[in-house]
Amino acid sequence: MSRLLPVLLVLGVACTSSSKESAPTHSGADSAPTDDTQPTDDTEPTDDSEPLTDDSEPPTEDEDAEWGDDGDIGPEHWGSLDEDYATCDEGLVQSPINLTEDLLVEGYDPLTVLWSSTAIRAYNSGHYIRYEVDEGSSYVISNEGRFDLDQFHFHSLSEHTVDGQHAAMEAHFVHYLDTNPDRALVVTFLMDPTGESDTDLFGMEGALKFHQAVALPESETPTDLGGTIDLNELGELFGRAHLSYEGSLTTPACTEGVRFYISGAILAPEIADIEAFTAVYDHNYRPTQPLNGRSVTAHSGEPG
Ligand SMILES: [Zn+2]
Repeated sequence: MSRLLPVLLVLGVACTSSSKESAPTHSGADSAPTDDTQPTDDTEPTDDSEPLTDDSEPPTEDEDAEWGDDGDIGPEHWGSLDEDYATCDEGLVQSPINLTEDLLVEGYDPLTVLWSSTAIRAYNSGHYIRYEVDEGSSYVISNEGRFDLDQFHFHSLSEHTVDGQHAAMEAHFVHYLDTNPDRALVVTFLMDPTGESDTDLFGMEGALKFHQAVALPESETPTDLGGTIDLNELGELFGRAHLSYEGSLTTPACTEGVRFYISGAILAPEIADIEAFTAVYDHNYRPTQPLNGRSVTAHSGEPG
């Protein structure tokens, strides 16, 4: 048990503080406890929603029912908007979830993060801002094999909660298994101005591109942001202690077969970064989902 505590404590510190300082724009959503029951405001994040099999292509939204973050097309209704979205209602291992200490089971589930320098293309689909990387430039190795990084994106507030508390934002780095594109792995960082990690997003260059992308007009066509950013340092920050569990995409079609790895390191973006993002998307997160008996593996970094 003692090995599990640090991870949750680190997560807990950041998330608790976030309710005070972060995401000033939606204090109402912030204060909501566990949100399974939450009403409307989650917006859809980003690209999680995309079909696992054609991740290399921009979304073709006209093929499926429109969905959103609020009202009649908000998260509570996704499962009935389109038969392709039925898993949003019927799935048994949906994401995100609320993390609590009693869910943690100590286990050996290592993840080696091998990210590197890449060009970045981005677009704002109206649902999310998606950042695409050079194919094959960055990958991770888990017990299942090699997963290649396809894209990353952000949610505000965080999708995962710790003891019912949201962090200001959450970053999702979406990878696909090289031998099976239906299997996905999401490297997850909680982000909060009061986070413990002494780091911003991706250094100055990365922060610049983050802001460039946030300012893009809506379009289905990715824009090359110019130059490259180096994801290596961020990958190293992921660290050895983390949580992992079996879940789903957090946007329609809520496809399952997604393994989440949640870093014990909390990114500490500048307030200006958060404000720039929330000016565009201030509640693109899905409420937490029922556990249905799932546990969460706490990997302390040591074989065991
Ligand atoms: Zn996401």
